[in-house]
Amino acid sequence: MQRTDGSTPKRVAVIGAGAAGLCTLRHFSGNPNYRVTAFEQQDRIGGIWNYPEGCEEQPEAPDSSPLYCRVYRDLRINSPRVLTHLRDLPLPAGSDTYVHRTVVRNYLTHYTSHFKLLPYIKFRHRVISVTPVNINTDIKWRLLVQDTANQTFADTLFDVLFICNGHFNKPYLPDVPEIKVYQGPVIHSSAYRTPEPYRNKVVLMVGAGSSGNDIACELMHVAKTVIIKQKVAARKFPDRFVNVQEVSHLKSTEKGVVFPNGTKTKIDAVILCTGYQFDFPFLTPDCGLEISRGRVAPLYRHMISCVYPTMMFIGLLSHTPFFGAGTEDQVLFCKAYIDGKVKLPSREDMIADCDRDYRERLAEGILPHKAHMMRKKLWPYCRQLAEEAGFQPHDPVMEKINAASNQNIVWTPYDFRNYKIEKVDADTFVCEHL
Ligand SMILES: Cc1cc2nc3c(=O)[nH]c(=O)nc-3n(C[C@H](O)[C@H](O)[C@H](O)COP(=O)(O)OP(=O)(O)OC[C@H]3O[C@@H](n4cnc5c(N)ncnc54)[C@H](O)[C@@H]3O)c2cc1C
Repeated sequence: MQRTDGSTPKRVAVIGAGAAGLCTLRHFSGNPNYRVTAFEQQDRIGGIWNYPEGCEEQPEAPDSSPLYCRVYRDLRINSPRVLTHLRDLPLPAGSDTYVHRTVVRNYLTHYTSHFKLLPYIKFRHRVISVTPVNINTDIKWRLLVQDTANQTFADTLFDVLFICNGHFNKPYLPDVPEIKVYQGPVIHSSAYRTPEPYRNKVVLMVGAGSSGNDIACELMHVAKTVIIKQKVAARKFPDRFVNVQEVSHLKSTEKGVVFPNGTKTKIDAVILCTGYQFDFPFLTPDCGLEISRGRVAPLYRHMISCVYPTMMFIGLLSHTPFFGAGTEDQVLFCKAYIDGKVKLPSREDMIADCDRDYRERLAEGILPHKAHMMRKKLWPYCRQLAEEAGFQPHDPVMEKINAASNQNIVWTPYDFRNYKIEKVDADTFVCEHL
């Protein structure tokens, strides 16, 4: 296919058709300058927001399996509704602030049909490897893709590559000295689906991040006792939750735990809420990137490879409202760059910028594996991308809503979903307890 000016459209590959991949497709599809293809290993869009029927029976199903799942049956979002949609297509007004996961899955289906994205997605196509190839001093991307329906393999060249494979795939399973001796059942939160199997049980949760808090809140209604082992001593759950104990120190026995005061308790199950680590099994060493638990380097502005700047990672940022800010800003910035509207600094300057960002984080006390964590850094980051690439920045109210919601999560993890948060105008919002 040639454009009217005689040039050939750029071939753009997208790995994954979750929220990040769909958002990327939306901005490249239907444009004569680009020929875009998304490869999705599953037979459906939506990535993490799918809860396939039967997934409870195989909680450890691998990502190639149709039963692969990373969410729980009763999950409700933890980002307010007004921050849980991509640009130009809001979630229906009037629905709850913290809707059930099915609303997000349906939203992504609606997004796909609204922006007519289906024809650009090759389902049941798993990207096996990605290699840069030098063709007349131009770097192209060779993708080896497996058609899992027909068990065939094909090699294809692309000019630009977007990596949107998600970052909640590979559980992070550290050595937890406190449970070293324990011989009972231990699972990672990625395999947790429903509270029922824990009825009247004593459950030890290791970790108190988003998943840890959410799962504890589900279990406290059915379990006999929920013990939350966190790094630092903190009391988030008030005394009225009589079956919740929060501890920072304990030791294990083969069948249970011993508290610092010497009390012993039998434990029926342990759930490790220890988070995830980055995983890009398809990247070959020739891509030249260093990948560790929570850092891909060197990436300019947390997204563009400084080694070969036609490789982009969308959605590596953590501690952001994924749909509301950060992800689509990255796509829009990359699009402006590929369109030729934004010029990147030299490779040396981009690498220096990554190093500076990383060093500043370490100096602030941020752990090395939180190299792409944003929190309050998100909003200046988004403003900078918008300013340089010339797209509409977020209204100030978004930052305010995000801050209010995060504060509720920190102070009352068991109650924050009982707030109704609505945007009033570009600057103000209302937040009321229901
Ligand atoms: C329990 C839980 C709760 C969450 N709650 C919220 C929330 O309330 N609000 C919020 O904003 N975010 C939340 N998130 C974050 C969530 O990850 C993002 O909202 C977002 O959906 C991530 O989209 P993604 O496209 O980056 O990744 P994914 O949704 O994981 O999609 C990646 C896609 O890539 C495909 N893929 C992977 N490898 C390959 C390959 N080699 N070849 C082809 N295809 C491949 C996968 O099959 C998948 O479809 C939550 C995450 C978890 C785990």
